[in-house]
Amino acid sequence: MQVHHQPLVSASLGTGRAITSYGFGPDAGDEARPKVYIQASLHADELPGMVVAWILKRRFAELEAAGRLAARIVLVPLANPAGLNQHWFGTQMGRFEMRSGQDFNRRFPELGPELAMQLKPHLTGDAAHNVRLIRAALRDALATREAATELESQRIALMKLACDADLVIDLHCDWEAVAHLYTTPAAWPAIEPLARYLGSEAQLLADVSGGAPFDEACASAWRYLRGAFADRFPIPPGVTPVTLELRGVRDVSHETAARDAQAIVDYLMHAGMIAGEAPEPPPLRHAATPLAGCEYVHAPVSGVILHRREVGDTVRAGETIADVLDPLEDRLTPLVAQSSGVLYARHWTRFATAGMLVARIAGSEATRTGDLLVP
Ligand SMILES: [Zn+2]
Repeated sequence: MQVHHQPLVSASLGTGRAITSYGFGPDAGDEARPKVYIQASLHADELPGMVVAWILKRRFAELEAAGRLAARIVLVPLANPAGLNQHWFGTQMGRFEMRSGQDFNRRFPELGPELAMQLKPHLTGDAAHNVRLIRAALRDALATREAATELESQRIALMKLACDADLVIDLHCDWEAVAHLYTTPAAWPAIEPLARYLGSEAQLLADVSGGAPFDEACASAWRYLRGAFADRFPIPPGVTPVTLELRGVRDVSHETAARDAQAIVDYLMHAGMIAGEAPEPPPLRHAATPLAGCEYVHAPVSGVILHRREVGDTVRAGETIADVLDPLEDRLTPLVAQSSGVLYARHWTRFATAGMLVARIAGSEATRTGDLLVP
């Protein structure tokens, strides 16, 4: 196991943070081997993945010592040291940077247009050559990119570690939720066994969900270059990106983390990246659905949220999933699902302000457009 520390821009005098990464595998520089990149807690208050990463660190070290790693693996258990230090009167604030208000998982650099200009004269009819060329160009572009702030330097540091990976797994969690995941339609066939090992209840697919989150940014240059040159030069998808949502923020335990880590190890064995006999993946819990089909149920009025259905329940269009109570007016306002599907996530807060997002349902009909993720 190799340990690397990449210093971030110091936000203020007397402070200094770094991204710590762990490298495993036969030879960190052997590009013939596939590369897997796994990070956790990019939203710093989403801790289930951090525990999974800790278990994976020890498992990968054992597997490396046993000579069983067929892939190079880079693991970042704390992807957001800047956010881990944000607290507001005793509550951790890990999703948005408090200085800028920006979401830590948005605005990652998208390098497609820059690379297209640069690579156009060098692409050939050899797909493997093009892959090497694009990965080298991604590394070079990020190596020379200047960061003015700690937040920008954190984004670049993470992209540097992930930009040439074949598989990128970003570990997050939701407010209150069952396990679910985000990936692209093109990557879904490769990710499907992971969904099965994990017991993922909703598989949400989108080519572009908007805002340049980490997983999409890792794939965006490839998508752009394929769009620009696919008629002339063979360019493979390059990377399989997936964001795993490991239930809710309070679902942090030895037991769930051990199960989730085992699911990832089983998947890597199934994919041939770890030598060994993977168990047969269990059946997929629910078919994949378009991210654009997710219904975001908002409270039209303020009040106390009284849920009628639990996360993981399959609900039907027309069903009341919760009520919003105004005890002064003796009024219960029903929140009625417009779509049928798995109620995969809901807010942890039980008091709604008017317009607040309360719950999300994985509907099967794509109805939304624009930015598809929770703002
Ligand atoms: Zn997150």
